[in-house]
Amino acid sequence: MSEYQIINPATGEHIAAVAATTLPEADAAIARAHGAFGTWRHVSPGDRARLLRRFATLVDSHVEELAQLEVANAGHTIGNARWEAGNVRDVLHYYAGAPERLFGRQIPVPGGLDVTFAEPLGVVGVIVPWNFPMPVAAWGFAPALAAGNTVVLKPAEWTPLTALRLAELALEAGLPEGVFTVLPGDGPVIGQRFVTHPLVRKICFTGSTRVGKQIMAGCADQVKRVTLELGGKNANIIFADSDLAKAAATAPYAVFDNAGQDCCARSRILVQASVYDEFMAHFETAVRGVKVLDPTDPASEVGPLVSAAHHERVSSYVAQSKVAFQGSVPDGPGFWFPPTVLETAGPSDVAWREEVFGPVVSVLPFADEAEAVALANDTEYGLAGSIWTRDVGRALRVARAVDAGNLSVNSHSSVRYWTPFGGAKQSGFGRELGPDALAAFTDVKNVFISTEES
Ligand code: NAD
Repeated sequence: MSEYQIINPATGEHIAAVAATTLPEADAAIARAHGAFGTWRHVSPGDRARLLRRFATLVDSHVEELAQLEVANAGHTIGNARWEAGNVRDVLHYYAGAPERLFGRQIPVPGGLDVTFAEPLGVVGVIVPWNFPMPVAAWGFAPALAAGNTVVLKPAEWTPLTALRLAELALEAGLPEGVFTVLPGDGPVIGQRFVTHPLVRKICFTGSTRVGKQIMAGCADQVKRVTLELGGKNANIIFADSDLAKAAATAPYAVFDNAGQDCCARSRILVQASVYDEFMAHFETAVRGVKVLDPTDPASEVGPLVSAAHHERVSSYVAQSKVAFQGSVPDGPGFWFPPTVLETAGPSDVAWREEVFGPVVSVLPFADEAEAVALANDTEYGLAGSIWTRDVGRALRVARAVDAGNLSVNSHSSVRYWTPFGGAKQSGFGRELGPDALAAFTDVKNVFISTEES
């Protein structure tokens, strides 16, 4: 495609056209990023930190503009979009603290001095999905830049606007040309070019498991480093001894937030059989109360789906299932989809097994702890999950037994920028955020200096 037509998902209106990067343009940008690496890696830690802080400060003074842009481009509610722009600022501030604290080690050895260095890798290719265009981009570019790498970033085809604005702010903050470049383009063309280009030393990919597998296979050819943040089919496990009213009141938001377009969406609810009916009564009231409104309205809790094509995909899952009950959507144009609870016959149901990526949830009862863990683990994914119980021993047992990267007890929160985030099984590998992310953007180099007399 030579140009992307950007549509406001809430209104169906055309809001912008964005030129798609061509292959020669991508190659030139990668060459510039490689050239810039030669200087950026040697910028003193203090100066690199100051530049990243200035970038963070500029993002802070543009939170409202970035949020409004995301509402128009991705249909996110204004409340969520403000949080997302604020998250970019916070992640930049957090990693601005890194350049001055990235130490090597000195390991005692006989006959000399042995030291290690945390070396930056070079040009890092960051590939971003459309569901959280701002935070996911920052989780890649901020630690990569802090560690001394340069970055080429490809936003998703449907949602390039905020990434392009962030690149302008980076330049305004004083990051040298070529250090951070945003290249809108087709995944199989520009994304693949990052994978095959020998000067791109690492791929930081967030997206579907299907594409993640292709990226991993492509990286094998050059033994290119890769981190993969992929899909999820996360369990929300509710035990009979939990605060049932709270678990039921929050469960809709754990899956319908961002219209369910969230890798951490708790789209499989598991309820202990003894409280199933009680839970479902509270849950239905809560689902019917979710405010699906114009995303510019500060009261809006859920906006539209991102595109007509994605609306069709979510609809096809619901068409294969039986609906138990649904919330409501506004009248008029836009890619609206009501919060939907499905009747689930069993764990072989297609909507129970596959990532629907819309405001759709399935519920199943379980008898005891062992069955809850077995059902939670009966998926190829392993990203996130919640456990509701008042028994702290059970909470820890289940958290250790569920094979996923991020679990929350009596909470649905998965992301705090100072703690690690990432998946197990086919949800990917490598960790973003927190101190662990820095290791993913550096290599350990060992140097031995002989102290023997010549
Ligand atoms: P996607 O895999 O279709 O696309 C993701 C990105 O990869 C886009 O920029 C796309 O253009 C690019 N791409 C597509 N084909 C490519 C190829 N052959 N080579 C290189 N790049 C290519 O995913 P999506 O539909 O944009 O996003 C939704 C998916 O992302 C869901 O599965 C969701 O769970 C996942 N996700 C995961 C996380 C996480 O942290 N684990 C976070 C957000 C989204």
